[in-house]
Amino acid sequence: MHRKTFLQSLATIAITPSIVMKLQDLGQLTHTLAPTPTMPVLFLGHGSPMNAIEENEFVEGFRKIANEIPKPNAILCVSAHWETRGTHVTAMEKPATIHDFGGFPKELFDVQYPAPGSPELAQTTRTLITQTDVGLDHSWGLDHGAWSVIKHLYPNADVPVIQMSLDYTRTPRFHYELGQELKSLREKGVLIIGSGNLVHNLRMVAWDKLNAPGYGFDWALEAREKMNHFILSGDHDALINYKSHGRAFELAIPTPEHYLPLLYSMALAGKKENVRLFNDKPLAGSLTMTSVLIG
Ligand code: ZN
Repeated sequence: MHRKTFLQSLATIAITPSIVMKLQDLGQLTHTLAPTPTMPVLFLGHGSPMNAIEENEFVEGFRKIANEIPKPNAILCVSAHWETRGTHVTAMEKPATIHDFGGFPKELFDVQYPAPGSPELAQTTRTLITQTDVGLDHSWGLDHGAWSVIKHLYPNADVPVIQMSLDYTRTPRFHYELGQELKSLREKGVLIIGSGNLVHNLRMVAWDKLNAPGYGFDWALEAREKMNHFILSGDHDALINYKSHGRAFELAIPTPEHYLPLLYSMALAGKKENVRLFNDKPLAGSLTMTSVLIG
């Protein structure tokens, strides 16, 4: 190549916006998903959306755990509040704060959690998963299952967050095995968070006891005790087969969406990893706020 032609080529590269954009993306990708020591995994009992703006022991528990673990490069959250046909990940640069509830004060609707998204992590997740075709979503955002708790972990909204949806057509074992496929993200500084509630029966809530944590109906206490035992003893099959544990579990898990995020988190627990419970309290009779730290 003549020197002049070469210089002209260079000039063309420098001013071609698409190429400049790609170089920036590459820089961001290297930054966002840089190799790290194995990140822990969380399951968070999110409870009432009001936890987003209230000061209580559970919110304190979220903050405390964030201080104990390394700050992640990015977060992938599986929230109880995003159910879809097929599995999707949010892939936008700037996910909207979704106020997916009704009947709460304006103050809660005013909350914005402007964490960036991560199209790169979305694409990497899509590539990693082999057992289903993962869709890249541009219309969801962050629902309260994600932002009402992540807000307490990283109040400055300076960690990119993507969400992965729950495919409501699938079995518990499918969700568990899908979780296993996310394993390598832990080596890229990604904090994987399942967000739901292990015991979650809204039709039976004792509303007068909502502000006095510690009260649980007998069946809720029984289910909590068994779940905690399965979690701490690494009995993942018992967690997957939750429908075979009788009446207490039927009442604790009347619909699966608040329980299934746990299976994503537990699927990532190595055989010898530490598993610890926190915020482990019943609430208002028919809920538990039990949360899990793995690693
Ligand atoms: Zn919820």
